[in-house]
Amino acid sequence: PADSAAPATSQGVSPGRTRSTEELKALVEDAQQRFGTRDADPDEVLAWAAETFGRKLAVACSMASDTVVPALVSTHLKNVDVLFLETGYHFPETLQTRDDFARDWPVNVRTLLPELTVPEQDAKYGAQLHDRDPGLCCGMRKVAPLDKALAGYEAWVTGLRREETPHRANAAPVEWDEHHQMVKINAIVDWTFDHVVAYAEENLVVVNPLLSQGYPSIGCAPCTRKVAPGEDPRAGRWSGVGKTECGIHL
Ligand code: SF4
Repeated sequence: PADSAAPATSQGVSPGRTRSTEELKALVEDAQQRFGTRDADPDEVLAWAAETFGRKLAVACSMASDTVVPALVSTHLKNVDVLFLETGYHFPETLQTRDDFARDWPVNVRTLLPELTVPEQDAKYGAQLHDRDPGLCCGMRKVAPLDKALAGYEAWVTGLRREETPHRANAAPVEWDEHHQMVKINAIVDWTFDHVVAYAEENLVVVNPLLSQGYPSIGCAPCTRKVAPGEDPRAGRWSGVGKTECGIHL
């Protein structure tokens, strides 16, 4: 944990890329030979990532259970940039988790804003777009701001885990991100939810309090509901609309 006063979260700026696409792809090949494509020790992968990319490495965090990821990264790279998408629709608990985490850990939390505020989006597309076209809403409020920020890094670390959705079943610890044309590091790809919670408890990492109130997967408030015991943990996300991903991992 950090010993300084709470750092303010800010929009910040991306550092820019210096390596070519070919150089980045070659790094992925080397990493996959070294760490394999299934299960790898997060500390070994993150030590490599910190040494290889330095400030050109960012971590994406939704401030749910995935705070363990920037916590892990910060043990290898102090003041790493942590990207948080402020959609304007978060639960208050999520924003509080962000602020608590930014205060407790040696990280630089960047709060990424969409181009339109919620009132501006309502004026242009009508109120509650999330109910009528969640793909468009996620596209504007999550995908676009993240794309813009990631264009200025060479690698990003995610909290993506294979057990979460069928789409993620083949994710590797280090892989090429075709959409963002950069290196993608899924540091805890083989962890279970229980493993994440145990790590958070052992290492005093603040997690979203909603996790223990029936919300094992937490997104924006209008698109997240409680799940019943034994139900699929992600059943509460975009429930009933046939959507399982916001689009940032597609
Ligand atoms: Fe919009 Fe819902 Fe996506 Fe949040 S999760 S950006 S409210 S559609």
